[in-house]
Amino acid sequence: MNFLKMAGALAVSLCALTAQLHAEGKGLIGISMPTKSSARWIDDGNNMVKQFQAAGYDTDLQYAEDDIPNQLAQIENMVTKGVNVLVIAAIDGTTLSNALDNAAAAGVKVIAYDRLIRDSGNVDYYATFDNFKVGVIQATSLVDGLKARFPDVKPWNVELFGGSPDDNNAYFFYNGAMSVLQPMIDKGEIKIPSGQTGMDKVGTLRWDGAVAQARMDNILSANYTQSHVNGVLAPYDGLSIGILSSLKGVGYGSGDLKMPIVTGQDAEVQSVKSIVAGEQYSSVFKDTRELAKVTVGMVDALMQDKEPPVNDTKTYNNGVKIVPSYLLDPVEVDKSNYEKILVGSGYYTADQLK
Ligand code: BGC
Repeated sequence: MNFLKMAGALAVSLCALTAQLHAEGKGLIGISMPTKSSARWIDDGNNMVKQFQAAGYDTDLQYAEDDIPNQLAQIENMVTKGVNVLVIAAIDGTTLSNALDNAAAAGVKVIAYDRLIRDSGNVDYYATFDNFKVGVIQATSLVDGLKARFPDVKPWNVELFGGSPDDNNAYFFYNGAMSVLQPMIDKGEIKIPSGQTGMDKVGTLRWDGAVAQARMDNILSANYTQSHVNGVLAPYDGLSIGILSSLKGVGYGSGDLKMPIVTGQDAEVQSVKSIVAGEQYSSVFKDTRELAKVTVGMVDALMQDKEPPVNDTKTYNNGVKIVPSYLLDPVEVDKSNYEKILVGSGYYTADQLK
């Protein structure tokens, strides 16, 4: 009997302790990520959960597997659960207006994470990288590679790939790249034998590597029976993998047929390995630990009714408002510097890249 009483009392005090701990939690943060099909978003999610928890927040992390209705349902569900702030990397940056109206009505603040959410006044802040600069880095690296690998070729034959047309970032990457490439095209230093330029022609829906591979196959068979391609602007490692498969399929990278310069983005493990193996030429490293840190800082400020730190209040007009933003610096990685940048910073271990 005594034992039962004691056990009961213990259970009651444990409950009280749990309730107290919960009350001391600083709030619940909903984190809506687009997909697990790319390692970067898994890192983003994990880094945020770790850092939010260390700062005293509870988190609800969901992945929508690139399915728009799925992401909408997950966000609605987070609002119903009573999250204080939503952190969203949108699949399609134009489809969230209704969900965000509901969030705003419930007093939930919204941070657009990495990708701008368009056509809604209910986007409070934007945490991202300098997306135009990503494109500048990709094109600059492409040109450096062309000079190094094809010093005697004039003009260089190049093909262009863009990201998903429903992702605002894709236009920034493309425009940044074209700020470097267009003057060279105009001067006749670079030729685009397929004639396919502009995001309406080079965009790759949902950033799908298989779609990029199929388009590269078509470009090669239609335009390169008498000549060779020297470079491919690829905006994301997942597309680069598809493009490289297509190139290898017709013999590039073996015998006398040099591998074209192929760029990328995100420095994903598989692509870093490809860089080390001399296939992909470069990638763009975006330190997701830093992006998580900026985001946690924004949320923490919002939760204390303070102004979150921003460093850009001009660039990101979402069609309704200019969203105050914090832009981080992207970094070029290639065979010459990957160890210092990726292993030296502790982002990957040397073993992961073997
Ligand atoms: C991100 C890139 C990523 C791409 C595909 C973009 O919105 O900024 O880092 O490569 O989506 O996932």
